[in-house]
Amino acid sequence: MSLEHFCQSRLLKRQQQHRLRQRSVLASSQGVHVRLDGRDFVNFSSNDYLGLAAHPDVTQAFKEAAAQYGVGSGASHLVNGHSVLHEQLEQALAEFTGRDKALLFSTGYMANLGVISALVGRGDAVFEDRLNHASLLDGGLLSAARFSRYRHNDVGHLAEQLSSSSARNRLVVTDGVFSMDGDLAPLKELSLLARQHDAWLLVDDAHGIGVLGENGAGCCEYLCLGQDDVPVLVGTLGKAFGSFGAFVAGRESLIDMLLQYTRPYIYTTALPPAVAAASLAALDILRQPEGPRLQLKTNIACFKNRAQALGLDFLPSDSAIQPIVLGDEQRVIQVAGALRDAGLLVGMIRPPTVPEGTSRLRVTLSAQHTEADIDHLLTSLGRTLTQVAHA
Ligand SMILES: *Cc1c(COP(=O)(O)O)cnc(C)c1O
Repeated sequence: MSLEHFCQSRLLKRQQQHRLRQRSVLASSQGVHVRLDGRDFVNFSSNDYLGLAAHPDVTQAFKEAAAQYGVGSGASHLVNGHSVLHEQLEQALAEFTGRDKALLFSTGYMANLGVISALVGRGDAVFEDRLNHASLLDGGLLSAARFSRYRHNDVGHLAEQLSSSSARNRLVVTDGVFSMDGDLAPLKELSLLARQHDAWLLVDDAHGIGVLGENGAGCCEYLCLGQDDVPVLVGTLGKAFGSFGAFVAGRESLIDMLLQYTRPYIYTTALPPAVAAASLAALDILRQPEGPRLQLKTNIACFKNRAQALGLDFLPSDSAIQPIVLGDEQRVIQVAGALRDAGLLVGMIRPPTVPEGTSRLRVTLSAQHTEADIDHLLTSLGRTLTQVAHA
């Protein structure tokens, strides 16, 4: 088969399934008001939950650091790319999450691929929630450990799998807040179960860090789980932090080992130091108790109340991620398209990101939305769903 024919047939397949994805061009900063493909929208589809991606203090910190340290880091961390700003950020993140140490990664995807492969391999076993983020599933598959998936948040199913495994080392892997569903993993139960079975627990808190818990330290703080309960904690800096990058936090021995063995850490250029400075500035803002975290909480409560009053059937979620499952791809495209015509952007999530038959709109809330924005979205959505149902 020619390469041309191969590519065309793959594309055609996606198109026939109504799963072809398209990029839009963003001509503004990220936030609640964006300019996309030449039109203005109120944005309910970004992960910039706190509005920090274009916050003046974060931008200023980035500019000042770039003026002092330049743009490129020039080398990997272990060669000579590890700057004083990376060092400061690692210390701040360790303190923030209540862990001994933290290790910065360029992206959450790389952190997950790397850490899972550094912890387990041939002869070991990895157990993953079936709705885990793609990077966690890919990390598990790449590790060459025996790979099993348990039913979503089903601790009993995981217990069965752990009981029947005789692998040398066993790693349980879960999202903290599920990225496409918005619900929380039963981390207390998972941590107890892992302990009973002498297994290790990795939690990816990409959507909880900066949002949940009294100080915003994420799902572990929210559920009072320390580094002995959740020994391997992954956080990302591209969502609530509004910046870029990721980290793993835990005991000193874990982090020291990862530094030696994690290939996506070792064989890649360090983040630009100015990006680390931006993350430090974001951390200062998101820690404030009366800051954007409080407003986000208010907005989530407002959204849930209004949605319920309108009889809209969102998934049960207390997080900034509020999905409504429509089932089929065409319906999702139709409804999201109508919302776009009304100046509203929501995420269209289809397989393979979510299981077959569960295509959905993924609404994400920001601290910067107003009550009027939320009303506009929900009334437009209510109207559109009725029209589509009767069409
Ligand atoms: C976004 C996300 C990642 C990937 O993080 P990046 O820094 O964007 O690569 C990992 N895990 C989860 C659960 C995510 O939602």
